[in-house]
Amino acid sequence: MTDAKKLIVIGGGPAGMMAAGTAASRGLEVILVEKNKKVGKKLFITGKGRCNITNSIDVEGLIRNVPVNGNFLYSAFYTFTNDDVINFFENLGVKVKEERGGRIFPQSDQAADVVNALERYMAGNNVKILHGTVAKILTANQKVTGVRLKDGRTLSCESVVIATGGKSYPGTGATGDGYTFARHLGHTVTSLNPSLVPLEVQEEWVKALQGLSLKNIAITVLNDKDKKIYTDFGEMLFTHFGVSGPVILSASSHMRDMKKQSYRVIIDLKPALSEEQLDKRIQRDFEKYARKHYINALDDLLPKKLVPVIAELSQIPKDKPVHQITKQERKTVVVLMKNLLLHIRRFRPLAEAIITSGGVHTDEINPGTMESKIINGLFFAGEVIDVDAYTGGFNLQIAFSTGYIAGYHV
Ligand SMILES: Cc1cc2nc3c(=O)[nH]c(=O)nc-3n(C[C@H](O)[C@H](O)[C@H](O)COP(=O)(O)OP(=O)(O)OC[C@H]3O[C@@H](n4cnc5c(N)ncnc54)[C@H](O)[C@@H]3O)c2cc1C
Repeated sequence: MTDAKKLIVIGGGPAGMMAAGTAASRGLEVILVEKNKKVGKKLFITGKGRCNITNSIDVEGLIRNVPVNGNFLYSAFYTFTNDDVINFFENLGVKVKEERGGRIFPQSDQAADVVNALERYMAGNNVKILHGTVAKILTANQKVTGVRLKDGRTLSCESVVIATGGKSYPGTGATGDGYTFARHLGHTVTSLNPSLVPLEVQEEWVKALQGLSLKNIAITVLNDKDKKIYTDFGEMLFTHFGVSGPVILSASSHMRDMKKQSYRVIIDLKPALSEEQLDKRIQRDFEKYARKHYINALDDLLPKKLVPVIAELSQIPKDKPVHQITKQERKTVVVLMKNLLLHIRRFRPLAEAIITSGGVHTDEINPGTMESKIINGLFFAGEVIDVDAYTGGFNLQIAFSTGYIAGYHV
C-alpha cells in the first residue's frame, strides 16, 4: 500500500502525457489509460511527421493565435511558456530548430523523437501506462472516485485528467469520448466544428486540377459583405472536392460561421507581379508564341494542368492564333491569373479537420489549475477544452501548457 494520491489520466496524447509525467514528478501515483496500443498516435503524424511543437512568438502572440477563448489560456501560457516547452524537450535530448513564422521543430525532423521523449519523461517518473478504453468516470457527492473501463474493470482514484483530445482524425483515437464524459458529469460542451480543414467549392473545374499543388501563391478570403477577412501567402493544393494545403487550412479557421455566411477565396497565381508587370510578361510570351494557338501560349507561366482551365475561364477560343488575341482578351487573362475566384460551399467533415473547434465550456474550468468547477478532482487538458488555435505550433503549445498545469495542480 502506498500513501500517494492516485491520479488517472485518460488519453496518451501530448496533453495527457505532459499531465501524467508532471503529476508523477510531484510524487503522485499516476496511471495513464490509453485506448491505442501506443501512445501519441496523433502526435506522430503532426507537422507531416515532423511535429511543429510550438512557436517562438512572445506569450501575448501565443494568445493572439488562439481566436476563440484565447484569454482562458493566459495563466497556462504564462506558467508553462513556449520557452519552457523548448527547454523541456532539450532537457530530454530533443534539440530543436526554428523555421519560417517562428515554427519550432525537432532538429531531427522526426515527430517520433517528441513522442519518445514524452514516453521517457513518463517512465522516468514512474507513470504506469494501461492500454484500455475508459467508458465512464465514477463520482460520488460531486467528487471523482474512479473510472470504469470498457472491459468492465474499475480503477479507483482521487483525481482524473480528461485528455482525450477532440473528434477529428478519429483513426488516431480521438473519437470525442471526453465530451461524453464531461456532459454526463454536468459540463456544457459547446458546438463541435471542424477547424483547419479543407474546403469544398462550387466550381466544377477544380476536379480537373486534382492533385495540383501550387507554391508561392497568395489568397484573399472575402465574406458576403465583401470584407477581406484573411490574406495569406504560400502553398495550396487542389483536390477532387475543392482545395486544401497550408494556406487553405489556415484560412478555414477564419471562416467561423459557414451556415450564416458565404465565403469566397481569391487566388493570386502571380503575387510577385503587379497587373501591369504580368500583362507585359504575357505580352512577351504571346510574341514568342505568335504563330501558335492560344492554348499553347501559357505553358511558360502556368503549370500544365492549369493551362486548359485558365484558357476555358478566359472564354478565348483555345485554337485562336495568338497574334489575333486582342488587348482586351489579354487583360482578361491577366485578371484571371491575379483573381482566380472560388465560392466556398462547405467545410470538409470534422473527421478530416486538423482541429476540433468547440469543446468543454471554459467558464466551467478554473483557468489557473484546469480543474472542473463542477466536479472535485476532475481536470481537463488539451483539445477537449473549447480552445483551438491557428497553425504554427500553437495547438501543441495548448496541449503542453494545459497538460502541465493540470499535472501541477492535481
Ligand atoms: C494531421 C495533423 C497534423 C497536426 N500538426 C500539428 C502541428 O504540427 N503542430 C500543432 O501544434 N498541432 C498540430 N496538430 C494538432 C495537434 O495534433 C492536436 O492539437 C493535439 O494532438 C491535441 O492533443 P491532445 O493530447 O489534447 O489530444 P490527442 O493528441 O488527440 O490525444 C488524445 C488521446 O486520448 C486517447 N483516448 C481518447 N479517448 C479515450 C478513452 N476513452 N480511453 C482511453 N484513451 C482515450 C486517444 O487514443 C489519444 O491517444 C495536428 C493535427 C493533425 C490531425
